Amino acid sequence: MTELKPWQWPEETWRGKVEQVRAGRNLKPKVWPGGARCAVALSFDVDHETNELRDGGKSVGRLSWGQYGNRAGMPRILSMLAREQIKASFFVPAVTALLYPDEQRRVVAEGHEIGLHGWIHEVNTAVPPDQERELHLRSADTLETITGVRPVGMRTPSWDFSEVTLAVERELGLIYDSSLFADDDPYELIEKGEPTGMVELPVEWIRDDAVYFNMNRFQALRPYTPPEAVFDIFKREFDGAYAEGGLFLLTMHPHVITYRSRFWILEELVRHAKGKGDVWFATHAEIAAYVKAQAGL
Ligand SMILES: [Zn+2]
Repeated sequence: MTELKPWQWPEETWRGKVEQVRAGRNLKPKVWPGGARCAVALSFDVDHETNELRDGGKSVGRLSWGQYGNRAGMPRILSMLAREQIKASFFVPAVTALLYPDEQRRVVAEGHEIGLHGWIHEVNTAVPPDQERELHLRSADTLETITGVRPVGMRTPSWDFSEVTLAVERELGLIYDSSLFADDDPYELIEKGEPTGMVELPVEWIRDDAVYFNMNRFQALRPYTPPEAVFDIFKREFDGAYAEGGLFLLTMHPHVITYRSRFWILEELVRHAKGKGDVWFATHAEIAAYVKAQAGL
C-alpha cells in the first residue's frame, strides 16, 4: 500500500498526530515561593564532546571544542553560581558523565540538579522506539551510579521528541520534561487526551545561547548576533516573565556561553534579575515540584 501524502490524510491521521502530546492546564502559580514575582530557571546542557560523537566523532578539532566545555566552561559557570549563591540545572548526556564523572559529582555536591539529556546526544526521532527506551533507562541508571542521585527530569537532546519519548519519561517516573514549546509558563502534559500529571517547563530557541553563537567552519552556520543583542533578547524575555509573574527559563551550554566575550551576558542578567529583589532562582526540579503541588497534581 502506498503511503498517503499529508494532503490525502483522513482527519483521524492529522488529528492523531497533533493529539500525541499536547499542552493541558496552565500551571503558572498565583504566587511563587517567598512571595516572589517570577521564577528564574537557569539550565546548562553539558553536551561537551557528545555533539561531535553523535555525528560520528570524526573531527578531533570539534571534540576539543567539547573539551573546552569541561576545562574552561564548567569551572567558570560553577564559580559564578557559587558566588551568586544560586542553584541551576545541568542536563547531562550519560556519555558526558562517563567521560567526566568528577565534574558531575562536583555539580551535585554544590547543590545543583542533574537531569537526563540522552545517552550520546542521539536524535530521538532517528532512533528505533525500543532502542530509545533502552537508552533513556540506561542513561538514568548511569547518572545515578556516577552521582548518587536519580534524575527526576529530562531535556531531550536537541529538544527532539519522538512519539514514544513521553511514555518512557512516565515509565521512568519523572516529574517533568523540559523540551517542548507550547507556552511561556509551566503546563501539564497531555498524552493522547489523557492528563499525565507531568509538568512541562517549556523551552524556546530564542532563549538558547547556541542559536546565536554556534559556528561550523564547513557549513554556512555563523554567529550573526552580537553579544549585546543576545543580552537584550534574554533581558526582554526575563522582563516579560517578571511583568506577567511567570517563568524565565534559559538554556545555555558550557562550550558556548562561557567565552570571555560572552560570559558577561549571564552575569549581567543575574544582576538584573537579582536587582528586582523578588525573584525566585530555582532548579527545574524545584519549580516542577512547586507548580505540581500548587495545582494539586
Ligand atoms: Zn544538548
